[in-house]
Amino acid sequence: MMKRTVAPSARKKILNVCILLVACAVASLARAQGRASAEQGSLTLSQLIELVQIPAPDTLVARQIAERGIDFEVDDLLLQEFQNMGAGPRTMDSLRKSLLEKQGAESVAEWMERAEQQWQNGDFSTAMQYAQQVLAVDPANQRARKIAGVYSLKAHDWDRAASYAQHVISSGESLEVDVQHRHDMFVSVSLCKGKLALSKGEMSFRSLNNKDHNFTLPLSEMEEFNINQDKAAVHTRITKLEKGKPKKQNFDFMSPDATYQKSGDTLYLECPRCDSFLNFLHSLLESAVAGTQAQ
Ligand SMILES: [Zn+2]
Repeated sequence: MMKRTVAPSARKKILNVCILLVACAVASLARAQGRASAEQGSLTLSQLIELVQIPAPDTLVARQIAERGIDFEVDDLLLQEFQNMGAGPRTMDSLRKSLLEKQGAESVAEWMERAEQQWQNGDFSTAMQYAQQVLAVDPANQRARKIAGVYSLKAHDWDRAASYAQHVISSGESLEVDVQHRHDMFVSVSLCKGKLALSKGEMSFRSLNNKDHNFTLPLSEMEEFNINQDKAAVHTRITKLEKGKPKKQNFDFMSPDATYQKSGDTLYLECPRCDSFLNFLHSLLESAVAGTQAQ
């Protein structure tokens, strides 16, 4: 009987052929996948939302963004929404990077310069647009946060201001908020307009109506502060020096847009976006006081 054997050199040849075949198969598979992802085109907003909501693994989503790109505009608010949806840190970084590439050669420093220039020119809304562009790629940029914070405060946009103002305070800078404080008198109530300046260690009020109501005090001396829904105010209790003597006083700060209206014999309060204002001012006081305690 003849026994067919394969010489060792031939065996080696077969093995090499096999390796070559496997390599070819892998390569063509990879080509096919490459074609598939090219055919898929850039990620749309709804596709990305779907991926984040599944939720798909952070690294996978980030890779999809990096490889396919995105076909929608990103600003800081959209980034914030993805953050709220639970997008992972790599996904967020990838979104910021792809945005930066899309914006082309313009650098963050250039946008920042334009933002500050427009601010000085008095074109606050254009300055805000540049600041938001900066924040979309560099969310921790202090100068852009300050512009966005001050702009939102000017516009009485309390919800937006909330996301910037605390960072400004905790970085050691001060902010000025339009407020009114409430004078409770025997038979009526009146409102006194002014500006409340807050920084890490200090709070000061400047009345536009009555200089006697001005005060500056270290926040460590504020006895209490809380939201009083009935009065639609953030209530504070402070110790104020009067003729050299410390005197405890209540200051109730209200939204600058609140007004008292008369209907027949009754006086009622009209306070647009009241809750937004109260929550904003209360959280701002919290971070200013927290900064004092940390010092
Ligand atoms: Zn007053």
